[in-house]
Amino acid sequence: MNDLFYIQESEGVQTLKCRPFEEIPFLRHGFSTKRGGISRGDYASMNFSTNKESQEIVDENYRRFCAANGLPLESLALTQQTHTTCVREAEGFLKGKGRTIVGNDVDGLVTKEQGLGLICFTADCVPILLVDPKAKVIGAVHSGWRGTVGGIGKKAIERMVALGAEPQNILAAIGPSIGPCSFEVGPEVQKEFDTAFGGRLPAVPSDRAGHTMVDLWSANEWVLRDGGVAKEHIFKAEVCTFCEHALYYSHRYTNGRRGSLIGSIAMEE
Ligand SMILES: [Zn+2]
Repeated sequence: MNDLFYIQESEGVQTLKCRPFEEIPFLRHGFSTKRGGISRGDYASMNFSTNKESQEIVDENYRRFCAANGLPLESLALTQQTHTTCVREAEGFLKGKGRTIVGNDVDGLVTKEQGLGLICFTADCVPILLVDPKAKVIGAVHSGWRGTVGGIGKKAIERMVALGAEPQNILAAIGPSIGPCSFEVGPEVQKEFDTAFGGRLPAVPSDRAGHTMVDLWSANEWVLRDGGVAKEHIFKAEVCTFCEHALYYSHRYTNGRRGSLIGSIAMEE
């Protein structure tokens, strides 16, 4: 972790915060950790996936996380997530309806609605939070390796621009996810990255023959820059979920026996 990010603790809930986002008065945001919820076992203790645990447990985790971070518990838009590059707008009618999954096969959400929270789920994949503080447009994106290669971050920027945002004003926070230290891929996946990024993301050999290490953080930075976001407006937490599996859920480290983290963002009403 670098100086741009810090862990905030409130009532036992530990949340990773991006300092430049915290400086925007009307903005509420946070990347969850495993700390502060009531989940048990492999999911301890702040799991947000109802595929894994009962609704009641996940409800309580949301209640605690939203209270700790000033997020609108009663108005949250969720991505359903199937490793697409589809980004949808979360509209005002979702406010007051609790947690709503927006569409099918959606991996990114944008909105200009104040008082509506956007949620994306991860556990090694890259969560990206976006804000244009002038136009007051926000976004939340789940970018796994397929989404990264497909450029979902850039598609989110385009959807924000359609709502009045300007790329040069957009700030991006790249949250906890599997790092270049731990994301080893086979030749087929490396080839996809070569095609998408070419020399901008050089292949780094791993210890295993024929395998390479991929830097998803830099790859997503390039995707956002291709969308017109300034390099100095992209803040990478540089927190590896695999290495820091004690504090974050890691799909790879646990072979899938894990809960789900969230990236969350909302504008105050
Ligand atoms: Zn690592």
